Amino acid sequence: MKQSRVNRRDFLRLSATGAGAFLLPNIAGAAVSTPTNKVTSEGEGIPVRPLGKTNVSLPVLSMGVMRADNPNVVRAAYSAGLFHFDTAHGYQNGRNEEMLGNFFADKPRDSFFIATKIKSHYPLHDNFEEDLNKRFAQSLMRLKMDYVDILYAHALGEISEASDTRITDALLKLKKEGKVRFIGFSTHAQKPEQIHAAIDAGIYDVILLSYNFKMNNLAETDAAIERAAKAGIGLIAMKSMAGGAEDAEGKKKINAQACLKWVWQNKHITTIIPGFSNFDEFDECLAAAHSLELTEFEKNYLADLSDKEMLFCRNCGTCASQCPEKLPIPDLMRAYMYAYGYRYAQLTKETLQELNISNACSTCTSCKVSCPSGFNVAQKIAAITPLTQVSSVFLT
Ligand code: SF4
Ligand code: SF4
Repeated sequence: MKQSRVNRRDFLRLSATGAGAFLLPNIAGAAVSTPTNKVTSEGEGIPVRPLGKTNVSLPVLSMGVMRADNPNVVRAAYSAGLFHFDTAHGYQNGRNEEMLGNFFADKPRDSFFIATKIKSHYPLHDNFEEDLNKRFAQSLMRLKMDYVDILYAHALGEISEASDTRITDALLKLKKEGKVRFIGFSTHAQKPEQIHAAIDAGIYDVILLSYNFKMNNLAETDAAIERAAKAGIGLIAMKSMAGGAEDAEGKKKINAQACLKWVWQNKHITTIIPGFSNFDEFDECLAAAHSLELTEFEKNYLADLSDKEMLFCRNCGTCASQCPEKLPIPDLMRAYMYAYGYRYAQLTKETLQELNISNACSTCTSCKVSCPSGFNVAQKIAAITPLTQVSSVFLT
């Protein structure tokens, strides 16, 4: 896979002369080349990789805006040469999209690349498409944009959801209307079968997937990623820090550079969207993006963590048949990770609301789940469900 380098200065210069279109094709979808002939010399800037067959190339480091509420961190990322920013309709009750809309209002539209996501509940209700369109119109308004570069169906869980024609038809319609350039879905499910189903559906431009060194089924996932890449689907990685902490309590921050570099070793991954929200976190990510190879120290560090209990649920599926309440335990473990790893209780609350869970475990006197990762799932669930009763004003 071709990998080249570009920096913000070059990018803006190219945009100003009209050549920026070589990097980001316009909404009309004209054929566009990758920026191979517009790069800085090796060692400068951030490497870029092609995003499937979209004719767009993105820096290997992007910004997951999710937790960020300081536009100056977005400014730092933009100034450093990042131009892909990932948000969602639900993040910070819409304030995340609003912040990006305000920040980019005076920037050339072809100098940034925006992705947002909209979550639909399963089973889909009768007015699913009307609801999707309404919320997407609201997202565009918040972003102050006529179109987004990627619209994802947010957090698909089941394998069948990726090929659900009600979803794919609704996304395709928005693409045809020019409100979306590329369509995709995001997934925390860690199910390679879901990627295969998406390839077979034949409509997706991009998949945003959890991908990190802690995953349970890496061989199968890598095989699915390779097949998706061959089919021209762009692969973007999230959850790359495996929860952001080395330990199960979320006390010791993980080595972000090692985690990011591990992901970049897979050349089919176009870019990663780490959710940095302050300058220190950003600096660490940026340093990694200028030197993608893992050092021996980093390799050993990750090897030492591979069997340790951390905050990342490997979605092994063991608990699915053990829980009498049929709780979505992997999603609840993710919600716990948001609170204790990301220190982002508001997202925990939003996730619990999306899952429609305000209390749980009332039918058990003792937990029936035996988790191979060592999670005390009942304890973790009990620790987060009270957040649904806390006003968002008091949550960060
Ligand atoms: S058993 Fe543990 S690791 Fe496996 S899916 Fe359930 S919570 Fe996650
Ligand atoms: S206590 Fe354990 S088994 Fe019982 S509902 Fe909660 S998670 Fe499921």
